[in-house]
Amino acid sequence: MVIETHPHDVLIIGAGGAGLRAAVACIEAGLSVGVVCKSLLGKAHTVMAEGGMAASLANVDDRDGWTTHFRDTMVGGYRLNNPRMAELHAREAPDRVRELEGWGAVFDRTSDGRILQRPFGGHTYPRLAHVGDRTGLELIRTLQDRSVAVGVQVYQEVIITRLSVRGGRVDGAIGYRRIDGKPMAFPAKAVVLASGGVGRAFAVTSNSWESAGDGQALAYRAGAELIDMEFVQFHPTGMVHPTGVKGLLVTEAVRGEGGILRNSEGERFMYRYLPESRRDEYAASDDEARAWVDDLTEGRQTKHHRPPELSTRDNVARAIYTEVKEGRGSPHGGVFLDISYLPPERVRAKLPSMYEQFKELADVDITAGPMEVGPTMHYIMGGIRVDADAATTTVPGLYAAGEVAAGLHGSNRLGGNSLTDLLVFGRRAGEAAAEAAAAASGTAPQELDPRFVDESIAAMYEPFERPSGEDPNRLHEELQATMSSLVGIFREEADLREAIDRIEGYKERWGGLRVTGPRRFNPAWDLYFELRSMLIVSEAIARSALEREESRGAHSRLDFPGSSEEWDKVNVAVSRDGEGMDARTTPVVELPAELAEYIVAKG
Ligand SMILES: Cc1cc2nc3c(=O)[nH]c(=O)nc-3n(C[C@H](O)[C@H](O)[C@H](O)COP(=O)(O)OP(=O)(O)OC[C@H]3O[C@@H](n4cnc5c(N)ncnc54)[C@H](O)[C@@H]3O)c2cc1C
Repeated sequence: MVIETHPHDVLIIGAGGAGLRAAVACIEAGLSVGVVCKSLLGKAHTVMAEGGMAASLANVDDRDGWTTHFRDTMVGGYRLNNPRMAELHAREAPDRVRELEGWGAVFDRTSDGRILQRPFGGHTYPRLAHVGDRTGLELIRTLQDRSVAVGVQVYQEVIITRLSVRGGRVDGAIGYRRIDGKPMAFPAKAVVLASGGVGRAFAVTSNSWESAGDGQALAYRAGAELIDMEFVQFHPTGMVHPTGVKGLLVTEAVRGEGGILRNSEGERFMYRYLPESRRDEYAASDDEARAWVDDLTEGRQTKHHRPPELSTRDNVARAIYTEVKEGRGSPHGGVFLDISYLPPERVRAKLPSMYEQFKELADVDITAGPMEVGPTMHYIMGGIRVDADAATTTVPGLYAAGEVAAGLHGSNRLGGNSLTDLLVFGRRAGEAAAEAAAAASGTAPQELDPRFVDESIAAMYEPFERPSGEDPNRLHEELQATMSSLVGIFREEADLREAIDRIEGYKERWGGLRVTGPRRFNPAWDLYFELRSMLIVSEAIARSALEREESRGAHSRLDFPGSSEEWDKVNVAVSRDGEGMDARTTPVVELPAELAEYIVAKG
């Protein structure tokens, strides 16, 4: 079948921060680049990012530097991170932020006109360059301007359903345009996956509708390895009320600016949950925590320790979950987060979106009283295994960057490290893909293998042709309920086995789903493909979680409560094995001695 075909040297799947930064790198290398996205340019999930991007610019505290950022990232990830990725990220983040500023990003400023930085959980010093609590919007706006200026070609509202692999090499992708349901082919010399996260596999999530794990699943189906899929980050603070907005993010910037967590008994409970090994990094009393906030507010370098609320996300999420479970929760099943002790004008200036969000959606004035918050599925540390320097996956011709890729964050991501991840590794993926495409002889392939095209199109339209079958929405709800109840913050063997059994059943049911109505903007049809992705990533999460018999970072096993040395040395990898999924351990990337010295001191 002859279909609309757009050949490019490099195809980039995703127009979030990672995809757009990769596109700029490819175009600057003089190549033809196509960017495909499910929504509109400027609307990718990255636009929702709030608190900021972490880089050791040392503008607020001159003791900061890349080695401390490296240490914080490795310690925060419980040393399961790929150390080379953590090193590159820490070293290059400041340049990427300054570059963004040069392209027109308008950051908040220090009194002497430099980029202002705010504190965030797990970061030793104030490190997050930010624009109020709308940093993602500014990042996307700037990268969008830049990529349009250099001449990016964007295919909007297109869903990629399959990667083409010829002779063991990825040589393009196929999908359909949501606007008219027509198939589209994208032959390319190299493909960069920058397709974001997997939040929609869970019932309560802060993620946008685009985050269905498509990229992880496309790569897996093409033969790539996924690693660290057991590490799913539950952000401690999402809205819990009203029901319609449950899960919507309450940025960590609220705690970064001094927000205090209390249970229904009025207790500031986070003191009780600080890990012994890191207790000395946090304030010992309310007075010290307040002195730290006052220094921050006045823009002074502080000698005080940070408040206990700025513990790492995994720890704060478990603490809130436990408080609620043990009966000390707020009326709507969360806990209280209070910033109203600060002057109202400061709260409104530093947290304008949060002020509006609570006012509009919950009728709560956060300058006058506390918010109610609880954990929400927020980010996946796991994803496609990539090489640190060049973002290559285990399949030739395929590159990955941003949330879809794994390695940088280990078992727990520090807030703010994602936005700089997008910039550092988006650029690296773009440059490496461009280099590979330039080295490949001749022009980009003009078409995909006709047999691949015919098969893919038949599979695309199959759910419309079934005379009867189940609605994708029901299956989606069941999957979300299973993932939230059996593969959530706390896990145990029986639950994980039950989840895997159920997912096996859902996979069979997926083959019988029916879609009715037109092909034009049909959300059930989109969901049909997204569900296949969510089933793959859900199975990968559950199987990896079952494999890792310890608790570490964002992975908490009730039946294996502590972390173990043996598990210190391995990642869990999954890949396709015929029709089944193989989960196994693989050695971590060794920490070289010259980097080890930076983290030894704080273990
Ligand atoms: C509410 C919220 C606030 C956050 N705040 C911060 C913060 O302050 N600091 C920080 O560091 N991190 C933050 N994060 C995390 C961070 O925003 C994300 O990890 C990051 O934006 C992901 O960017 P990305 O470029 O990898 O992908 P995304 O921005 O998720 O973009 C994915 C792109 O891929 C496209 N795509 C997906 N599947 C397909 C397909 N099948 N076919 C075609 N296109 C496809 C999508 O349309 C989209 O364009 C936040 C996350 C949330 C949810």
